Amino acid sequence: MNSSNPNPLKQYECGEFQFPHDAKHEYYDRHVVFDHVVSMDAASQRERFEAVARSLRDLLTQRWLLTKETHDKENPKRVYYLSMEYLMGRTLVNNIINLGVDKFVRDDLRSDPRQDWTDVIETEPDAGLGNGGLGRLAACFVDSLATLQIPAIGYGLRYEYGIFKQTINYGFQIEQPDHWLARPDPWEVTRRSETVQVPVGCRFGMEKGVLVTIPGHESKLLGVPYDRPVVGYGGRTINTLRLWGAATPDFFDFGEFSSGDFVGAIVDRLLAETVTRVLYPSDTTLAGQVLRFVQEYFLVCCSLADIVARYEKSNKDWQHLPDKVAIQLNDTHPAMAVAEMMRILLDHANLSWDEAWDLSLRTLAYTNHTLLPEALEKWPVRFFELICPRLLEIIYEINRRFLDDVEKSHPSDENRATRMSIVEEGPARQIRMANLAIIGTHSTNGVAKIHSDLLRSRVVHDFAEMYPERFNNKTNGVTPRRWIKLANPDQSALISEAIGDKWVTDLTEFRRLLPLVNDSDFIARFRKTKQVSKERFASWLKSALGHEVDPKSIFDSQIKRIHEYKRQLLNAIHIVVLYNRLRSNPETKMPPRTFFFAGKAAPSYRLAKLTIKLINNIARKIDADPVCHGRIKVVFLPNYNVSLAERLIPASDLSEQISTAGYEASGTGNIKFMMNGALTIGTRDGATIEMAEEAGEENFFLFGLTAEQVVSTRGWYKPIWHYENEPETRAALDAIFNDHFSKDEPGIFEPIRESLLLKGDFFMHLADLSSYTQTQQQVGQLYADSDAWTRRALINVATSGKFSSDRTISEYAADIWDAKPCPISH
Ligand SMILES: *Cc1c(COP(=O)(O)O)cnc(C)c1O
Repeated sequence: MNSSNPNPLKQYECGEFQFPHDAKHEYYDRHVVFDHVVSMDAASQRERFEAVARSLRDLLTQRWLLTKETHDKENPKRVYYLSMEYLMGRTLVNNIINLGVDKFVRDDLRSDPRQDWTDVIETEPDAGLGNGGLGRLAACFVDSLATLQIPAIGYGLRYEYGIFKQTINYGFQIEQPDHWLARPDPWEVTRRSETVQVPVGCRFGMEKGVLVTIPGHESKLLGVPYDRPVVGYGGRTINTLRLWGAATPDFFDFGEFSSGDFVGAIVDRLLAETVTRVLYPSDTTLAGQVLRFVQEYFLVCCSLADIVARYEKSNKDWQHLPDKVAIQLNDTHPAMAVAEMMRILLDHANLSWDEAWDLSLRTLAYTNHTLLPEALEKWPVRFFELICPRLLEIIYEINRRFLDDVEKSHPSDENRATRMSIVEEGPARQIRMANLAIIGTHSTNGVAKIHSDLLRSRVVHDFAEMYPERFNNKTNGVTPRRWIKLANPDQSALISEAIGDKWVTDLTEFRRLLPLVNDSDFIARFRKTKQVSKERFASWLKSALGHEVDPKSIFDSQIKRIHEYKRQLLNAIHIVVLYNRLRSNPETKMPPRTFFFAGKAAPSYRLAKLTIKLINNIARKIDADPVCHGRIKVVFLPNYNVSLAERLIPASDLSEQISTAGYEASGTGNIKFMMNGALTIGTRDGATIEMAEEAGEENFFLFGLTAEQVVSTRGWYKPIWHYENEPETRAALDAIFNDHFSKDEPGIFEPIRESLLLKGDFFMHLADLSSYTQTQQQVGQLYADSDAWTRRALINVATSGKFSSDRTISEYAADIWDAKPCPISH
């Protein structure tokens, strides 16, 4: 920064750490009237939203600049988080809360003749640049990094279309495009001057609607940065989320013009820009398509070019790279960073291989997110040849040296070498991205204790043996700002009244609620907040979707991506068991329950989509059956996203975390429910195990096979045994497969029958059904004793402090990044 040049914005700068409140009215009114050239009275809801957002951005701009200046000046070690997904949700209220300007905004809006605050808030699109847990984790992490004042940049892609909008038609999932950027986004700042160039080994074309590659012609993509402020709580540090948009140069080679194919050149240009058009909507299985490969390459190339440019500005010597730069790879999606970093250090910095390898290794770290074998990314060698041949050369050299090491430690153990090789031989050779990530980084972490253990002991056992010091665990967390303070203002106010508000940045403070478990007055008030949340949700549900639910019934929620391993089907079958009980004996005692489901299925995932259909058919049949009225009700809420989670979680009594043990790496939905006073019915899986450890197992409803039992049972497990020997299981399955819920669609659920009874029920629904049913019975009994229930809920909240993403990020900072806070002066 040139300090002799007077800062033209100086006049607005706040000397003290406080925002220029006197200017407040100007901000909003000016933006409404001048940005859109409308009168205050005539402004649309959207225009008013943009004006609030822009005035809030005005308010934070000085802090944002000051953060950048301080980081540039002090040159601390910076953390760079690379993720293909950021499931941000809405930003407005989050920024208001983190800036602490609630009152200011309310005052300001008073100048507006039509102040329907909720409508303005809900005008903001829910930024769905992610599929589920992995993308939401990235969003929680950037919040915690800023709150902890760690100098950090999140890198991702600026998809024009986020995760699809889900609607339900005759019970079927319909996908609709989510054009969330249809209108200018008030938060983002385009930084064209920091555009980077991405060399590509081919050109692109279109064939039958699919992007294809045309080999033999090198081309170039431009990565344009779009920056978003990430406001830490208290507004001290404002970090940046930098999303890359693909573009092509504004001018073409003269050669191309003179070739006369003017139109063709323009079309090429549009094709290149499709690279960041759309997010791939599958959360586990790999897309396997060249466009996704190009997206990953594009993210890595743009981000590393940016990181290196930033490094070179403040440092002369490459030797200090690992002292100034920590790069975290969110899953293997950006694992090409291993090769790209080597390329930069070899070809650009002209270092020797050994020097480059040492620096690259110490700079990069990798987080593994799944144990599902189908989610382990592999890319055809052919894609590398086409798009980035130099990276392939480097990967081959990494592999050659690595296999030498394997040979030295395990002479002529060819099977081991074959298992561990980065290259998978076969008719089409493939690059195993997880192997590349483990070999090329100094840290591989899982996301919950059990997941890290299984990773070491099963999935990548050979690597854990070779590099024991690289493997570690960082149990996931979520940000208490969005998931408690914003989502649950009633519970937050009550808690702050009791223990103060330090918990917002130190969630271990929640433990101070424990003594209040025996305070009957507090318990009554705590129950009241839950009741208020349930009533609020019920009235929203009525007005938004037309469903009527009874806020006195148990609100029992399973909201997450629809996947076989998450076992929405187990929940659905259990509902049919209850339904059958009511039909055979209407006097059956059970507390009234409302079962909420929400979640998207990958558009190509047949069984997951059929599960949605089944849930909807069960819901319809139960609604039509008088015996169920006031007893059980099923609601499938369409279009699960962050905003819906914020509404439903505070209103839930029971959290369903019922994955087949050993398959849910961590989960974060489980954590959000615990913090918001729901009890959990769940398997011993992911972070749920550690949650129960914190709260005490007696305060959890754990059931079912353990991860070890799942493995040891697999060999002889016969789902049909349960069908033949458990009358309730049989009756429930018969009802489903004999079309009790699908009179007009005979046989529609046949693929589910095949999966459960003919193909071995891989996720062991039937093995766990009776244990689940019994545990659900205990849930019902406890709910009848509302004091006992609420005491347990409060114990759960009080012991959820470990699961703040602030704790998770502090551990990454200490153990993996060696990064420290860099306080921004007042
Ligand atoms: C938290 C969250 C998830 C992750 O939920 P899990 O139950 O851990 O799978 C997915 N989607 C959204 C919108 C979330 O908020």
